[in-house]
Amino acid sequence: MKKTNMTKKVITGLILGAIVGLLINLFAPGYFDAFNTYLFVPLGQLFLSLISMLVVPLVLFSIILGTAGLGDPAKLGRIGLKTIVYFLVTTTIAIVIGLGLAAVVQPGLAGDFDLESASFDSEEAPSVADTLLNIIPKNPLAALTEGNMLQIIIFAVFIGLALTALGEKTKGIVNLVEQGNEIMMYLVGLVMKFAPYGTFGLIATAIGSQGFSAIKAMGSYMFVVLAALAIHAAFTYGGTIGLLAKKNPIWFFKKFAPAMSVAFSTSSSNATLPVSMEVAQKELGVPKSISAFVQPLGATINMDGTAIMQGVATMFIAQAYGVDLTMTQLLTVVLTAVLASIGTAGVPGVGLIMLAMVLSSVNLPVAGIGLVLGIDRLLDMTRTAVNISGDAACAVYVTETEKNRGLKTEEVTVG
Ligand code: ASP
Repeated sequence: MKKTNMTKKVITGLILGAIVGLLINLFAPGYFDAFNTYLFVPLGQLFLSLISMLVVPLVLFSIILGTAGLGDPAKLGRIGLKTIVYFLVTTTIAIVIGLGLAAVVQPGLAGDFDLESASFDSEEAPSVADTLLNIIPKNPLAALTEGNMLQIIIFAVFIGLALTALGEKTKGIVNLVEQGNEIMMYLVGLVMKFAPYGTFGLIATAIGSQGFSAIKAMGSYMFVVLAALAIHAAFTYGGTIGLLAKKNPIWFFKKFAPAMSVAFSTSSSNATLPVSMEVAQKELGVPKSISAFVQPLGATINMDGTAIMQGVATMFIAQAYGVDLTMTQLLTVVLTAVLASIGTAGVPGVGLIMLAMVLSSVNLPVAGIGLVLGIDRLLDMTRTAVNISGDAACAVYVTETEKNRGLKTEEVTVG
């Protein structure tokens, strides 16, 4: 009952924010700055800071407990493998849907795009190889202060394994981490009370500051990205929940809606992590130890929505520049987009920076990113909601398959 109320409130905040932002943008653009500075930005920023504040300690504590809760390293390996295979397969499906739909609809032929003045300052994209090679933190405290998610995950897994091996000797630390985790989850609940106001502010800023003329010109590109995202959510995640986990997909999306709304308004998988973990654990019946692994790892490396955008954008840019991609080039796009989405950090806008890597792999002009830049903010919102849904769908799937192996929920729930 209480949760339904919260879901309604967050979604109301989201819709009201979009309406207010749109109305000001269309009818009183002169007042937008004042509203934005004194109302929307403070509300949005406050919420974003409150929830980001919880991410690092929550991930650290919950993964330590998750590892310790699974007990047996073989179980950890099995769950880890299942999760990573799921992530890779669904990301590949996502890119193929993006490329396929863009090849059929041909958004790049839908208008005269100003290729001459298109430009994009490609920021230094982090190399995927470097990210993966640096996965072991030389200095765990530095990883924690920098918020380097992959390194924090690895460090926490090591601590969890040690706690399991040492058993009774380190019971005190296990209790401490358990209590730390309780504190964080309590705070997530508290911060969520502010979510309706925060999402209102974030959405009003995002919609109010949009140039709608850009949207008109890019309408068919946007349509293809949004349609591909919807198809992926409905079929890939719907299929995961319905066929693999044997649950009702509508139940999944309904319960997960508050987390999707927060992802939509923050455009950040990382910032949404405390909320998506809470919803998965409390509403979708995912045990803490599975949620603690699958979701932080997913928020860092599993970005299906981002991969879809990269697939559609690559096809769009090829069409706009009149380049026909060969089959080998398409396969290269699939491979590099999988890597690019793994390398994309769960923060706003990074997917577009990583797109440079995909374009370069098939010799398409990186300046083409300039064409899609103007409307990326809106698409980022939607793809982030899809990104975190993929992690939650995986968590539900892993939970169900582990149950089938005779693992009772209580056994894997720590605390
Ligand atoms: N904003 C996305 C996320 O946090 C990443 C991206 O595609 O830019 O999931």
